[in-house]
Amino acid sequence: MEVRCRHCCKSLFKGDSVLFNAHHEVKQDAANMKCQLNEFDCCSYMTLENVPDWIMNAIDQKSWIKGKLYCPYCNSRLGSFNFVNEMKCCCNEYVKPPIRIVNSKVDILCESLKQ
Ligand SMILES: [Zn+2]
Ligand SMILES: [Zn+2]
Repeated sequence: MEVRCRHCCKSLFKGDSVLFNAHHEVKQDAANMKCQLNEFDCCSYMTLENVPDWIMNAIDQKSWIKGKLYCPYCNSRLGSFNFVNEMKCCCNEYVKPPIRIVNSKVDILCESLKQ
């Protein structure tokens, strides 16, 4: 899976288990939600294990509190992170991963689609 900025088309990160849904399950494709109550979630999530350097830097700059994520190439807003307030999935059973990427700001390319 590769994630690109929709604005400038540059590659932001890639890997097999970089994007998660609100239940911490690895996303296999952009629409993979799994939560019955959360079918229209507009975001994908990331955990700290696999974040690229530019996201780590953004988090460091905000002292691990909360802030917004911008594309390192064109500065478009891509998402946000929040290490202060736990955000629960609307089913109330899971706490969402702390780093959010707004699906409409990126293109998520899956290997299965390219073949
Ligand atoms: Zn960009
Ligand atoms: Zn849920």
